[in-house]
Amino acid sequence: MTKRIFRSIWVVTLSVFLAAVLLFLGILYDYFSDIQRSQLRAETALAVQGVTHAGAAYFESLECSDCRITWIGPDGTVLYDSISNSSNMENHLQRDEIRQALEDGTGESARYSTTLAERFFYCAQQLPDGTLIRLSVEQNSILTLLLGMMQPLCLIFILAFVLSFILASHSAKKIVQPLNELNLDEPLENDGYDELSPLLRRLDHQQREIRQQQHQLLQKQREFEAVISNMTEGIVLLNQNMNILSINPSAKHLLEADSVSSGTPILSVCRNPRMQELLHLAEQKQHSECILELNHKYYQLSANPILSDGELLGIVLLFLDVTEKEKSEQMRREFTANVSHELKTPLHTISGCAELMTNGLVKPEDMPHFSSQIYGEAQRMTQLIEDIIELSHLDEGAGDLMWESTDLYELTKQAAESLQPQAKAAQVALTLEGSSCIIHAIPRLVSEIVCNLCDNAIKYNHSGGNVHITVKPENGSALLCVADTGIGIPDEHQERIFERFYRVDKSHSKEIGGTGLGLSIVKHAAVLHNAPITLTSKPGEGTVITVAFPLQKPI
Ligand code: ADP
Repeated sequence: MTKRIFRSIWVVTLSVFLAAVLLFLGILYDYFSDIQRSQLRAETALAVQGVTHAGAAYFESLECSDCRITWIGPDGTVLYDSISNSSNMENHLQRDEIRQALEDGTGESARYSTTLAERFFYCAQQLPDGTLIRLSVEQNSILTLLLGMMQPLCLIFILAFVLSFILASHSAKKIVQPLNELNLDEPLENDGYDELSPLLRRLDHQQREIRQQQHQLLQKQREFEAVISNMTEGIVLLNQNMNILSINPSAKHLLEADSVSSGTPILSVCRNPRMQELLHLAEQKQHSECILELNHKYYQLSANPILSDGELLGIVLLFLDVTEKEKSEQMRREFTANVSHELKTPLHTISGCAELMTNGLVKPEDMPHFSSQIYGEAQRMTQLIEDIIELSHLDEGAGDLMWESTDLYELTKQAAESLQPQAKAAQVALTLEGSSCIIHAIPRLVSEIVCNLCDNAIKYNHSGGNVHITVKPENGSALLCVADTGIGIPDEHQERIFERFYRVDKSHSKEIGGTGLGLSIVKHAAVLHNAPITLTSKPGEGTVITVAFPLQKPI
């Protein structure tokens, strides 16, 4: 801008200067022409006096370099000419200045000389004898005048050139300075040019609007960030190039990308092929979902394209933790498969025996064996079904059972007594020690816990082994401890024996009538009573299982 203003000022200054010079030259030209004419008139008068006194002799001594002098007779014949030979010259009677002088005594004219082809001033005066003296002088042309004044003109022009350059540069800077110093952050505080006021007012108005919109946007962004950062679900916002715009802490955690920042491509964070498939569909503006397994957890991932006027602006990825749902689904599937499997074996045995008996293929002496096998398998099935019913009852919370103030020691004593025949049959010594511990419990379930633990302790024991039950209060809990000297449980199985249908040694367990559900029932019943279970076991040495019931607070 400074350059443009400078150039404009400079060009205008120089143009005005040149125009002034030309105007001045025009005026000078007129002025010099007038001077030339009056000089010619004076010189003509002098020449007339000279010729009047000296006659033709006047011309002999005449030295005239600037002007031309011609003596013309009253009939127009040229008697003398200071430049040309008079005898060769044509009659001058028809020349304007001669005709005028013959009429008025003096005459003047200016024209191009036909002889010399230059513009001349002519001045003629009649002498008393009737002859005429004419003086002519070449008129200065503008060019001659210009050439004559060339030197001073050039000097003046250079001076004007330099001066206008300095002045234009100074003025341009001065004009632009207030614009450069405008405070655009506070437009109304500027007091430069009045002409800028409407612009500055508009600027101020727009700035206030922008600030307000910025504030609103910031507030909305904060609200959005507060919402998504407190969500347990993972949310990732992507732009159309699959780069992360926003990612909440839950998503960072589940994708194990704590240091990821906005702008990072999502595929450099997670290269799961199922997710890539979903992103591909979202790119084609399709909503899609899938179940992803990440770090032993299951997530329902939905990819939603964000569209505006049919154009893809970005993609929202939502990760919902469905681990529990998936696990319970898996458990349900496993449970159904296990139940079918567990029921299939005894049913096959029963139907096989029954078929042999029906076809008369069993000898009479083998009949008791086959009948007892059918009875045993039927018993196993009944036990299994009872256990399943008990488990599903516990799954539903056993809300129909009564909670009572119960003496754990008394309950355990009764259970131990009922198991004595079984212990004797297995040649295992079953002993109980302890004191009364009152707990708030469902007596039937507590009995079941005691029975299942003791039953296992007897079942998985050696003949001649021991099962020792202790019931005692300790640290605000009523401890039920069942210790045996049995086969023990290897470390790798200890975590899993509370799962449904889990057995360390399947065939051995089945042989001794186990269903694989006993400890599951113990676990569920203990959870219902808020009683933690601890297990210590060494293969070949024995197992200790402790259940810590909360003691009932005295009323
Ligand atoms: P089961 O009906 O087969 O006994 P449980 O759920 O009661 O089923 O027990 C699960 C498995 O845990 C058993 O099959 C057995 O292998 C193991 N187990 C349970 N209690 C003991 C114990 N006291 N000593 C050794 N192993 C045991």
